[in-house]
Amino acid sequence: MRADLGFFSLADGMGGHAAGEVASQMAVDRLMEEYLAAGSDELEAGALEAVLLAAAHKANAAIFARSEKEPDKAGMGTTLTVLALAPGERAYRAVHVGDSRAYRLRDDTLVQLTTDHTWVQQQVQLGYLAPGLARNHPFSNIVTRALGIRDAVDVDVVRGEIWPGDIFLLCSDGLTGMVADADIGELIASSASADESVSRLVDAANAAGGRDNVTALVIRMAAG
Ligand code: CA
Repeated sequence: MRADLGFFSLADGMGGHAAGEVASQMAVDRLMEEYLAAGSDELEAGALEAVLLAAAHKANAAIFARSEKEPDKAGMGTTLTVLALAPGERAYRAVHVGDSRAYRLRDDTLVQLTTDHTWVQQQVQLGYLAPGLARNHPFSNIVTRALGIRDAVDVDVVRGEIWPGDIFLLCSDGLTGMVADADIGELIASSASADESVSRLVDAANAAGGRDNVTALVIRMAAG
């Protein structure tokens, strides 16, 4: 993460604790490297998007290759959610794979920007499962897409505008599996700073009996 550059990334590893950590670290390192190599904060939104996408595919290939070579890392993978700002155009671009999430809070309304790559989300989209039942579904932990699991991966791109006062949240399923969106929005809206938001979100997940590790990043745009 390089807040000074407007670059934020979150990766939640899977495939055994140690291997998952390797995969998630490889993903965020690779994204950062490619972003910096491309001239980063100078980029306009379209070019930024191309850089992030290419970097996600490179990270996928690198993680997959390593998992094939090192038996103790077989099957490792990671989610990846990256948010990069193009402040000159008041735009952001996000790339996303897996069940971590990006949200935007604007005028006290929390909107999920990314789509979960999970079995339950597929059922919701097909109309077989009510959205409200997805979070506590017994199969809610089945991820349908992750970085590094196969030799190729589909990467989602999310495009949007930045408004003064917007607050962005990147988080792992360790948070969203335990705390409802309405509560997440309220906690962030009532916090005085990004740091306060993060610690209150982590506390809320733990208080709800969090079994998974919680990762959260909160990014606040200056109010106009
Ligand atoms: Ca997780």
